[in-house]
Amino acid sequence: MRTIYTTNDACTDKNLLGNKGANLVTMARLSLPVPPKFVLSIDAYRAYKRSGRLPLEEIRKAIEELEQRTGKRLGRGLAVSVRSSAPASMPGMMDTVLDVRELEELLASVRKVFDSWDNARAIEYRRLNRIPADTGTAVIVQAMVFGDADGRSGTGVMFTRNPSTGANELFGEYLHSAKGEDLVSGRVTPRPLCCLQIEMPEAYYQLKEIGRTLETHFRDIQDVEFTIESGCLYVLQTRSGKRSGQAAIKIAVDMATEGLISREEALLRITAEDVRSLLHRRIESPQEYAHIAQGLGAAPGAVTGSVVFHPNEAVAAKERNESVILVRVETSPDDILGISAAIGVLTSRGGLTSHAAIVTRAMGKACVCGAEEVRIDLEAERFEAGGQIIRRGDSITIDGNSGRIYAGRLPLVEAEGSPELNTLLAWSDNVRKLKVKANADTPEAIAVAAKFGAEGVGLCRTERHFNAPERLSAIRAFILARTGAQRAQALETLGKLQKEDFVAIFKQLRGMPIIIRLLDLPLHEFLPADLENLDPGLAEHIRELRETNPMLGHRGVRLAVTSPEIYEMQLEAISEARSEVEADVSVMVPQVITLQELFWVKRLVKDKNLKVGVMMETVRACMRAGWLAKHADFFSFGTNDLTQAVYSFSREDVEKKFLTTYLEAGILTHNPFMVLDVKGVGRLMQTAIFWARKEVENLDIGVCGEHGGDPESIKFFERIGVSSVSCSPFRIPIARLAAAQAAIEHKRAATEEVKPPAPATN
Ligand code: PEP
Ligand code: MG
Repeated sequence: MRTIYTTNDACTDKNLLGNKGANLVTMARLSLPVPPKFVLSIDAYRAYKRSGRLPLEEIRKAIEELEQRTGKRLGRGLAVSVRSSAPASMPGMMDTVLDVRELEELLASVRKVFDSWDNARAIEYRRLNRIPADTGTAVIVQAMVFGDADGRSGTGVMFTRNPSTGANELFGEYLHSAKGEDLVSGRVTPRPLCCLQIEMPEAYYQLKEIGRTLETHFRDIQDVEFTIESGCLYVLQTRSGKRSGQAAIKIAVDMATEGLISREEALLRITAEDVRSLLHRRIESPQEYAHIAQGLGAAPGAVTGSVVFHPNEAVAAKERNESVILVRVETSPDDILGISAAIGVLTSRGGLTSHAAIVTRAMGKACVCGAEEVRIDLEAERFEAGGQIIRRGDSITIDGNSGRIYAGRLPLVEAEGSPELNTLLAWSDNVRKLKVKANADTPEAIAVAAKFGAEGVGLCRTERHFNAPERLSAIRAFILARTGAQRAQALETLGKLQKEDFVAIFKQLRGMPIIIRLLDLPLHEFLPADLENLDPGLAEHIRELRETNPMLGHRGVRLAVTSPEIYEMQLEAISEARSEVEADVSVMVPQVITLQELFWVKRLVKDKNLKVGVMMETVRACMRAGWLAKHADFFSFGTNDLTQAVYSFSREDVEKKFLTTYLEAGILTHNPFMVLDVKGVGRLMQTAIFWARKEVENLDIGVCGEHGGDPESIKFFERIGVSSVSCSPFRIPIARLAAAQAAIEHKRAATEEVKPPAPATN
């Protein structure tokens, strides 16, 4: 078996050489100045794991070749570095051995790097990043070049575009006369790359050209490590650059505009996290506040929280649902859990390519690093900056864009996106088939939804109109009415309130369609829990109304069957509001189990010229989908209640009780109330859609449960022929992008399916 690959080999297989190794070979093939090297493949790792042996003869031969190429002998002018190279990037997790000058030592170093695949840090990193545990790593043995050789030497990191903002400009850091480790560890704060332009312009322009070649080849932003030894430039490594969400979006849009990638590729490259990070908050009026220190804005977004100094404390605080900012001199891979638990990170040392900066950017956390004015006393758990002492537990605000640090909690405002996000979403809209609507109950929510590009309101929950204290009493008066007169009085009040609500909502719609869900009133949510100070008769009445299983109780359309006047009141209020403000209104019936309920509500609608849809949220409705389809104007799946019903899990209790244990024990892989359970709930939906569309081919079918805003679930909805999703306003941009990605992937899968089989080869 072949286990060593040298510069002469054309193999660029990442699964054999790891990411770094494959990229080094590619760079050599692009005629870039890479120090000579050879790679022990992942097959060599596997053989070593099985037998404990290394391919000695092959290593000797590869060393000889290296000696010929460099014109130096190992130990006599030639030193090598020994590094890991796994197929998935695991920065800093495995061992590196530098300055190796003897064969025996070299062999020990290769073993050390292979063994480090199984160190605790690497295992934890793989677990967090869902990297398979059994892949193993290749090892790169490379001739060392020295950035500290003399005054015409140095070392640095170059990003081909700005990884924080995405701007198309060279970005990076440089240390004069220093080793690469000084830079990566964050122990020294380096200078920006523009200093190199002044000190060694030739190397700078050569580097710029190299960046262009690499971007054109890899069609992505590159993160390049370089060393200059006595005026001679070498590139040691390239990989696709980790970037903030803001940068990811700008780079994808720019590259598509430059013709480097297609628009479809640009859309597929963006994750929900990227979009979410652009919807990050910022400080409302930063000019009104004096900052106590200035660092480097390493990862975008402003956050405010209390200070902790140890990663363990951040983890403990997260369990208490507290928002904390982790303050460290510098971070290391051991801090990963603490960083992930904190809402932001502040370091007093290290540059924009330090560990803290890279990790937080990838995680979408705010980060300010290299704030040297922040003098941290870890023992005393406090820091001093701008003449102020900030202790553990004190509140601060950090701004990951400007790099400024403020004492106290500053008012933050929601983010507004970016021009490139708008472009990307416009491209999404051209591609996607699914309509994206909003779950919005108030004019304010509808305004936000419209701003984010909603195409209508897919679910207006009318019971939410009665949450305010003064309105609660009106709905209670109806529920608790004992006489016809009391009931009529309560309904009149409710009718007036609802008409006002609908007028305000219709005004805000500005032409968008709306689906109003008729009342789905879980009685327990609207009745007083504390009966002690109530009139005994009233208390008794409330006790009678209480149910053992309220979520399976007298709610939804069931209430309209026993008290039709409640839906009549709502329908009348809609009609009256519509006579004042023109609006495209449909109504939908919750908790339907049978066609007879739909007929019941249709009789109440009479000649009001409203489309009437069915909420598909009971198992029985799904089983009767064909019949319901014949008489409904549309369907909308209420996947929250449907999941509850399919699982027999109470959606109100499960997260507090046993779901975490189920997830930790691996009995369930996802919370089914967040990510649609394709195998159970999904299959039921698919069956229902099959029967419904058999009766009414073009039936409009939406999803308005929480899953309507979840990217994974959206992909499934696209595949089973759903026509629209409806989600909370802030998730609309994510849903628009996810719907576009779903359409592209669906199209690609369909093309692959019809591709003729590849001709047989001999
Ligand atoms: C649902 O059940 O999915 C739904 C949208 O309705 P609600 O969450 O109001 O019960
Ligand atoms: Mg429901």
